[in-house]
Amino acid sequence: MFTTYRLDFRGSVTLALGPTLAPQASWSKGAIPTLTNAPDLLLPAARAQCPHWRLALLDTTDGSPLDTPHGHYEPIMADLARATPTTVDAMSQAFTDMIIPLGSARNTRLKAQRNWRSVLTWAVGRHTLDQILPMDTRTLQAMLWDFTAMGASRSVLKSVVDSVISRHRDAQLPSPVTGHMSYFRLTRCLGRLLGTQHPHKMGVTRDMIVALLRYRPKNLLEFRNKLATCTLTIGCMRPGEGARATTCCLVFDSDFLKGLPAYKDCSTLSTLIRKNDQERKGHWMRFGKSADPELDLNFQHGLFMDLAGTRPRTHCQAEALKGKQCLCCHPLFPKLLKRADGSWGLHPTPQPSAANVTAMVIASLRMIGVDTTAFSGVCCRMGGLTVATEAGVPENILWMQSGHAQDRAARRYVRLTNPDRLYDTWRAFRL
Ligand SMILES: [Zn+2]
Repeated sequence: MFTTYRLDFRGSVTLALGPTLAPQASWSKGAIPTLTNAPDLLLPAARAQCPHWRLALLDTTDGSPLDTPHGHYEPIMADLARATPTTVDAMSQAFTDMIIPLGSARNTRLKAQRNWRSVLTWAVGRHTLDQILPMDTRTLQAMLWDFTAMGASRSVLKSVVDSVISRHRDAQLPSPVTGHMSYFRLTRCLGRLLGTQHPHKMGVTRDMIVALLRYRPKNLLEFRNKLATCTLTIGCMRPGEGARATTCCLVFDSDFLKGLPAYKDCSTLSTLIRKNDQERKGHWMRFGKSADPELDLNFQHGLFMDLAGTRPRTHCQAEALKGKQCLCCHPLFPKLLKRADGSWGLHPTPQPSAANVTAMVIASLRMIGVDTTAFSGVCCRMGGLTVATEAGVPENILWMQSGHAQDRAARRYVRLTNPDRLYDTWRAFRL
């Protein structure tokens, strides 16, 4: 439908680049034709035409060296501090360079840079390099019209708008998305035109969890897969959270050891960071003791760790490294490798990705005969929230298991004096 228009646009860009630069152009795939090397190619043209050419071509993906995974920042900070003179100028510059970039996550910056390259490419093709930074409402509307005609989806258009806004914010210039072109109005217009139905996904149900817990796994692989699905569902977790969990995150008898005898054989799974938790406050999910011993998830976790040899290491520093990823213990759902004799053992690099965990969930559901066309990794979280909500777990309690982002104001006031309610999400499964 939009191919001709898209090709015409690519033609105008090539023409505008001229015979010297055009052969160096490298194009990305996707609805909007985009020069992946836009900043390099456009240097001479932007310098001549764009009032803020440095900022327009700036690569914002270079993050901060302090942007380390899992919170182990201390050695890097110590090195940086040693290399920084202790004058106000130098230290202020260091703060700007190293700490201010932490304000947006690395993936967000990469996405913004990718979409800004589409804006730069458009500016070449439509001869508007002098109008993109600062950009006025007219130029923004023209660009969005053009991109819509190329067949860009609503989410792509929204990301382009986001990149324009963040570029203006970084350059401390007034954003074109304001007043009668407010963000809300803009995205609503685009949504009316381009909105599509979400693909239907189904949540993992209580019956599936019961079937999985009763299932006698034929090998270590099946065992791990069923544990992943049950833990992610009852804990209302995302696949990425399951991937990051180590065996020392699962603490058996946690509340019992705090002096509460009713919670013998229960467990707490700690997750360091959840999606909406940028400040590393973390989260502690509870898993109780089942009435039916066949459905005891905690017992099965312990058994799996013994079989796979993944019990927390004795020198584990998890306690000392509170709020940081343990680097010495095995993943809770490790990658496995088939041995020559057909049995399964730990993979040499057992750390799974979120995609691996999703594959575990799908495989386990197939194992109990579920048609998995409407299932993906996120279905565990959906299932957990659904079962618990249907069983009447109040939202502010459920949040303590799931960390979902609703009703923020209320939960700030929740201070439980008794851990009993923390088991409600687990109890909703009536195991
Ligand atoms: Zn550990």
